[in-house]
Amino acid sequence: PSEAPSLPEALPSVPAALPSLPEVLARRSAEQPDELAYAFLRNGEEVAETLTYRQLDLRARQVAARLTALGLGGRSVVLLHPSGLGFVADLLGCMYAGVAAAPVQVPSRARGLDRLRKIADDAGTTVLLTTPEVKRDLEERFGTLPELAGLTLHDPDSLAAAAERQAPEVLAGWQPRPIGAQELALLQYTSGSTGTPKGVRVTHANFGSNVDETDRLWPTRGDARVVNWLPLFHDMGMLFGVVLPLWSGIPSYLMAPDAFVRRPARWLEAISRFRGTHAAAPSFAYELCARAVADGDFAPGLDLSSWRVAANGAEPVRWQTIRSFERALAPAGFRPEAMCPGYGLAENTLKATGSPEDRLPTVLWLSAEELRAGRAVEAPAPDAEAADTEADTESEAGSAVVPSIGCGGVVGDSLVRIVDPQTRATLTDGRVGEIWVSGPCVAAGYHGRDEESEQTFRARRADRAEQRSWLRTGDLGFWHREELFVTGRIKDVVIRQGRNFYPQDIELSAENADPGLHPNCAAAFSADDGSAERLVLVVEADGRTLRGGGEQLRERIRRAVQESQRLEADEIVLVRRGSLPKTSSGKVQRRETRRRYLDGEFGAAQAAAPRERVEA
Ligand code: ATP
Ligand code: MG
Repeated sequence: PSEAPSLPEALPSVPAALPSLPEVLARRSAEQPDELAYAFLRNGEEVAETLTYRQLDLRARQVAARLTALGLGGRSVVLLHPSGLGFVADLLGCMYAGVAAAPVQVPSRARGLDRLRKIADDAGTTVLLTTPEVKRDLEERFGTLPELAGLTLHDPDSLAAAAERQAPEVLAGWQPRPIGAQELALLQYTSGSTGTPKGVRVTHANFGSNVDETDRLWPTRGDARVVNWLPLFHDMGMLFGVVLPLWSGIPSYLMAPDAFVRRPARWLEAISRFRGTHAAAPSFAYELCARAVADGDFAPGLDLSSWRVAANGAEPVRWQTIRSFERALAPAGFRPEAMCPGYGLAENTLKATGSPEDRLPTVLWLSAEELRAGRAVEAPAPDAEAADTEADTESEAGSAVVPSIGCGGVVGDSLVRIVDPQTRATLTDGRVGEIWVSGPCVAAGYHGRDEESEQTFRARRADRAEQRSWLRTGDLGFWHREELFVTGRIKDVVIRQGRNFYPQDIELSAENADPGLHPNCAAAFSADDGSAERLVLVVEADGRTLRGGGEQLRERIRRAVQESQRLEADEIVLVRRGSLPKTSSGKVQRRETRRRYLDGEFGAAQAAAPRERVEA
C-alpha cells in the first residue's frame, strides 16, 4: 500500500509445478490406496459411507469414461448433489474427463427450480448429474414443470446405460488424458448475495495455487482431518470439504448442512469424535454453536483440543461472536488461537487472506466516526464488561468505538492492495477503499460475461505503470500492519450526510436489541420512496419475541440503532422468521430484500399472519 508510486511490479509467476486434482488423486490411489479419503456422516453422527483413494479414483474414472462416451468432453454439466460422496466422485469424474462441473443446490421446492434452470442455461448445458434419490424425487414432483423441460437428469446407472448405448467402444478404451494447468476445472457460481449468481471460471492452476497457499497458511500435517458441514456447492465447502483434504491426503468427514442447522452441536461433536483439526464456517455458525452450548445442548465429554484451524469467513467476522464462542468452548479445550479469520471470494478461487493458526485474531478498536469518513483510527478499547453487551460502545473519551477483526495477510504470490474505487489510485495503510487482489488464484473470469469479466478481473491501477492486472472485489477494507480488515460491500453501504454506514453494523445493533432475536435476522438498506432516501430495517421476529407487541419491539430496535450508530431508522418492518431472502449459503440478500420492500411484498405476506399483526 504505502510504497512509492510508479514502481513496476513483477508479474505473478506461473505455478507450473502444481498438479491438477485428478493427478493428485491418481497418485494417492497408487501410493495410499486403502487410506480413508472421505466419510459421510448420517445425521452428522454415524459414519454411513466411506471412500478410500482407490475406490474414489475408480469411481471417478468410470464417470469420466461415461461422460467422454457421451461426447461431453470440453463441455459443462450441472452437479446436482446433496452433500455426500456421490458429489465427490462425480466432481472428480468431470475433472478427469475435462468437463466443467457447475455445482448447484438441490431444489427442495418449486422455487429453487428457477435458480437451477438459470444456472444450467448460463453454464450452457442440459445434462445434470445427480443421485438416484434426487433424480426420482425431482422427476416425480416437478417432472412436468417447464423449468425441467429439455434437461436430462442422470444418476450413475442411467449415465452408464446412456454411455453404453451411445459409444461402447469409447467406454471400453477410456484412458486419462493430460490436463493443462490453464484448463477449466470448475464453474463456481457465486452466492448471489448482490444479484444473480455468476459462474466463475476456475482453472486447475487456480485450484492448485489456492490450496497450496491454504496449506502453507494452515498446514495440514500428518494427523490432520477435516470436518465439514458447509454446502459443497458453495466455494468454501468445496475448498475445505473436498479440495484441501484431497490435496493434502487427509480424511474429510462430511455432513449435510441441514444436520448442522437442525443441531449445530453435531459439528462440534464430530470434531471431537474424529479428532478434527481443520473446520471452516461463517461467523453465524460460530454464533449458533455458542448459543447451543449456552443452552446446554452438547454431548458431555466434548473435546476440541485437536482443532487447530477454525477458519471464519465468507461473511463479516463478528468480534462478539468470536468472544462468546471462545468462552463457551474453552472448557471443551478449544484454543483461542485456533480461531482463524479469513477473507475470500469465488473470483479468487476462495481464500485471499487468512490469519495464521498459531496467533490470536487481531482486534482493532476504531473510532466509529472516523471509520464512517473512511479512516481507520485506533481509539482506546472500552472496558471488557461494556464491550460484552454492545458492539459499538463508548470509550473513556466519550466517542463511539467499534471492533474490527483482522483477516490476516497474504501468502505465496498473491497480493492485496486497497484502491480508491473512483480514482483507482492506491491508498495508504489505514485508509478505507476497495480491496483489489492479484496473483495466481484470480480466476479466469465470469462464464459468458466478457465485458463484466474485463472490468472485474483485469483492472488497472491509475497510479502505477505495471504489467499486472487486478481483481476488483467490490468489497471495502483497509490494510494495517500486513493485515487486511474488511469493512463491507461497496454496493451495500448506506450513505447518510456524507458518512458511510455499513449495514451489518446496523443489523448487529438491531439484533442486540432483544435477546429473542436470532443472528442473521435483519437486513438494513436505504431505499428511495420517491421523496427521500430512507433507512429501512427488515427484521425477522418469532411469536415469542413479539409477545410484548410489535410496537414495543420496534421501539427497542429503533433505540438500539440510535444509541450505537447515531442513526435514525426511518422504518422498521417486522416479518416472520424465514421470510428474509437469503442465498443458498445463508447470506442475507439486502438488494433482494429492498426490491421486495419497494414492491410491497412484505406488507402483503404479513397481513395474513395469524394473531400477531407484524407488518409496519
Ligand atoms: P455474489 O457475488 O453473487 O453477490 P457473494 O459475493 O456472497 O455473492 P461468495 O464468493 O460466496 O459470493 O462470497 C464472497 C463475499 O463474501 C466477498 O466478496 C465478501 O463480500 C464476503 N466475505 C468473505 N469473507 C469475508 C470477511 N472475512 N469479512 C467480510 N465479508 C467477507
Ligand atoms: Mg461476490
